[in-house]
Amino acid sequence: MIKTIGIIGAGQMGSGIAHVCAMSGFDVKLSDVTEERLSAAVSLIDKNITRQVTKGKTTEKAKQDALAKITTGTDFAMFGDCDFVIEAASENESVKREIFKKLVPNLNKDAMIASNTSSISITRLAASTDRPAKFMGMHFMNPVPVMALVELIRGIATEEETFSAVRELTTSLGKTAAVAEDFPAFIVNRSLLPMINEAVYPLYEGVGSVIAIDTAMKLGANHPMGPLELADFIGLDTCLAVMQVLYEGLSDSKYRPCPLLVKYVEAGWLGRKTGRGFYDYRGETPVPTR
Ligand code: NAD
Repeated sequence: MIKTIGIIGAGQMGSGIAHVCAMSGFDVKLSDVTEERLSAAVSLIDKNITRQVTKGKTTEKAKQDALAKITTGTDFAMFGDCDFVIEAASENESVKREIFKKLVPNLNKDAMIASNTSSISITRLAASTDRPAKFMGMHFMNPVPVMALVELIRGIATEEETFSAVRELTTSLGKTAAVAEDFPAFIVNRSLLPMINEAVYPLYEGVGSVIAIDTAMKLGANHPMGPLELADFIGLDTCLAVMQVLYEGLSDSKYRPCPLLVKYVEAGWLGRKTGRGFYDYRGETPVPTR
């Protein structure tokens, strides 16, 4: 029975996961590298639940109860009483491995672990812990409070007991599960990220502007967001990391990251989270950068 959930990484995804878990009545322990990131995450969660209150989707009382369920800290010792820990730190395998190394000595022996990775092998991450049978992938979509899907990925060693506990948790968070095998980028990102990467090529080659590409795909393919707008929303560093995992993991040149995507990441233009990506978000309205 999962009651207390630990979350590592309080960025876009970790804060959204904390929001949804606390609103569903779970006790949440949220951790990141600095207190500043944690207080920014708690303010964001407060702001997002307040918006739900304004829209009549929840009550002020439920918001206060949820916020009271979230404890934050930078010390992994706080995960000692967690039944389940979800890792949602940056999409970098060595960062994640380092986190698991530090995490396991702090956990009780029955605690399960999931990674929210968009693309890294669950089996390989599981092997860096002391409990591959109690480890799996739980891939939430962004923004977590809005998106209904969670991809569930078993590693080669994941026990059925772990899988059913996490499937049950997914349902109690009000989400729908899609089960994917442990292959690079699973289902959603295996399909979505090559489309986004491919949409950067017309920009790189001068075939179309940012606005032309996004308008073309919104009105021509009936996508609710243009691919470049969506890339900014996901984070260009995350998009690049997923393409690199596909490229290396499947050894197929069709997944090579577009050089212009690499350049934006090198510039630190990572999308909405840094104020600039394919669009510049620093003013009143987003302005295309090309
Ligand atoms: P983000 O950059 O917004 O947040 C990552 C957070 O992890 C940062 O706050 C960072 O300080 C923290 N962090 C880094 N090292 C840490 C450590 N050692 N200990 C604790 N915290 C640490 O990134 P994000 O978009 O929230 O992505 C997080 C994970 O979720 C990635 O694995 C990503 O692939 C995955 N994911 C992202 C999306 C998306 O659309 N952005 C969707 C699904 C899954």
